[in-house]
Amino acid sequence: MTCKEAEKKIPQLLEDRLEPAELEGVLKHIERCPSCKEELTIQFLVTTGMQRLEEGSTFHLGRELSGLLQERHGKLNRLKRLRIAACSLETVAIAVSAVTVILAVLTLR
Ligand SMILES: [Zn+2]
Repeated sequence: MTCKEAEKKIPQLLEDRLEPAELEGVLKHIERCPSCKEELTIQFLVTTGMQRLEEGSTFHLGRELSGLLQERHGKLNRLKRLRIAACSLETVAIAVSAVTVILAVLTLR
């Protein structure tokens, strides 16, 4: 993913509106790209930070941003585990139907 692509997805990252594949791409890019990390920090400050300060609550930029990133990482990991579980369920289903066919053939003889 290029910086341009990553930057375009930052607002969606903050609003949690990214598809899992996009989310993974953006998170990976931001981890190793200081300028996009800075862009994310600024946008986070402008959106979430301003809103929080208007509400009169305190706002710890660094802590809250790493919390948000951790939350997105966690979501991504949960989705991945879910996908793996779905894959193995599919394998089980295929195995069960294969066994059923074999049993059917055996009982027919
Ligand atoms: Zn970048």
